[in-house]
Amino acid sequence: MKIGVVAYQGSFEEHALSVKRVFDKIGKGEVIPVKKPKDLDVDGIIIPGGESTTIGQVALRLGLLDPLKEKINQGIPVLGTCAGAIMLSKEVTDAKVGKKGQPLIGVMDASVIRNYYGRQRESFEAIVDLEEIEGGKEKFVFIRAPAISKVWGKAKALATLNDVIVMAQEDQILTTTFHPELSGTTSIHEYFLRMIKR
Ligand code: GLN
Repeated sequence: MKIGVVAYQGSFEEHALSVKRVFDKIGKGEVIPVKKPKDLDVDGIIIPGGESTTIGQVALRLGLLDPLKEKINQGIPVLGTCAGAIMLSKEVTDAKVGKKGQPLIGVMDASVIRNYYGRQRESFEAIVDLEEIEGGKEKFVFIRAPAISKVWGKAKALATLNDVIVMAQEDQILTTTFHPELSGTTSIHEYFLRMIKR
């Protein structure tokens, strides 16, 4: 199995490490850093956190945005964390400036509000209940995290924190507003890799 991790900025290394830890449990696999369309010959894609405006602009400039969209529309499993979740959502608003255009992949029936938790709580840890994916309660870090304010169509909320959606799924698209690659656990990556094997 080959997992491509978009590697412009953000926590590529930590995602790669998490995936490798799951490979150690379930069998062999390879992590491919994705920078160009030719790197997309993989079985699953991870879009890490970072700055969604930068990720979008760089992906657009390097011609990766449309190929990514195409691949995902064809059914390749994708995990988007934090800024990655923003990239995948169809509707994005900024908590401060309201609606503003930014290059998106825009494939999931979900609305997100960027920087939802504001400056006071730029970064915090919270316990998230993973029972929807048959997991327990785990502590995750949120870094200038968005909120998933709405899902519709086939998209479903998988976890909430104080009534705000923090994890959602639509078919083979999985998003989290937190950083599962920084938790020291691999439940989210395991769940994602199980989606690929199905
Ligand atoms: N605040 C960032 C954005 O809007 C996301 C932060 C993150 O990925 N940790 O793109």
